[in-house]
Amino acid sequence: MTEKEARLRAEMSRLCRSLFERGFSVGTAGNVSARLDDGLLITPTNCSLGDIASDRIARLDATGRHVDGPRPSKEIFLHRALYETRPGTGAVVHLHSTWATALSCRSDLDPEDCLPPLTPYVVMRVGTVVRVPYVAPGDPRAGTLIRELRGRAAAVLLANHGPIVAGVDLASAVAAAEELEETAKLAFILRGMPVDTLTAADVTTLETAYRGMKPG
Ligand SMILES: [Zn+2]
Repeated sequence: MTEKEARLRAEMSRLCRSLFERGFSVGTAGNVSARLDDGLLITPTNCSLGDIASDRIARLDATGRHVDGPRPSKEIFLHRALYETRPGTGAVVHLHSTWATALSCRSDLDPEDCLPPLTPYVVMRVGTVVRVPYVAPGDPRAGTLIRELRGRAAAVLLANHGPIVAGVDLASAVAAAEELEETAKLAFILRGMPVDTLTAADVTTLETAYRGMKPG
């Protein structure tokens, strides 16, 4: 194992535990992956994010074949769809976090733009959030739906299921998933109130200044 892979495994174990301990994931919900030079690391199936040792992470080769460690998450196809359509994606985080999942259930949502630009941080770290229609868990059509977005967004809500977010690396994918969750919460808190959002010009300025924070 390379030094880089060992470092990535340790970081994945630490960040997954942190997500679990702070309530972003409950039970065995959620899965996290990171790109290697010659493949992918992904959290195992049926495993709490709070309990993933660095040597108990699944490894896939560049073709997606499972080559080492426990059985990979059943939701691997969601991750692969983002790696394939968003160049520069170094890591992907999928959660069933409460507020973002609540948002994914709303029938009044614009599927092309699910979250208003309430703060600069959501613009910088998350960008436009889109929603794809509901399919049953494990149904590979969810991967097709993400591919059909052609990399248009780094953050996707799976309807009635939860968010999936791509980042340039593990730390930024986790930070983006957290930012999405907190902004969804703000959107619910502010629902029905008159709200000032950032203007289109504010958003453009931030996107220009922080280009590269998200995989493009
Ligand atoms: Zn899921």
